Amino acid sequence: MANDGHILCKKCRQVLYLGKYKEGRFWPGRETHEQFKLGVAQFIEEHFAHGDVIVMGDGPYERYLDSCPSNEWPVTVLIEATHDGRIKLVEQPSAMRG
Ligand SMILES: [Zn+2]
Repeated sequence: MANDGHILCKKCRQVLYLGKYKEGRFWPGRETHEQFKLGVAQFIEEHFAHGDVIVMGDGPYERYLDSCPSNEWPVTVLIEATHDGRIKLVEQPSAMRG
C-alpha cells in the first residue's frame, strides 16, 4: 500500500512533499530521481539548523495536522525541475491536506 512522505520543519511550518513511497523508494512528480534527491538534500540543509525537522508518513502527518489549528498548518513545498535541469523548491499557494 502506498504511503505519502513528508519532511516537516516545525519552526518554519514548511513541509516538503516527497510523493508516494512504494517498492523501497519515493515516486514524486515530474522530476527525475536524481533531481528529487537534490531537492530533498536542499530542503534538509536549509532547515536542519532550525532544530525540529522530521520525516513522516501519512498517519503521523495527519495526526500532526489534527494537533494544530488549520491556520497553523504548514505550507507545502514541492521540488520542481527547471527547464535547464536544475531544481527549485516551490511553495504551494495554500496549505494542502493529505
Ligand atoms: Zn525551517
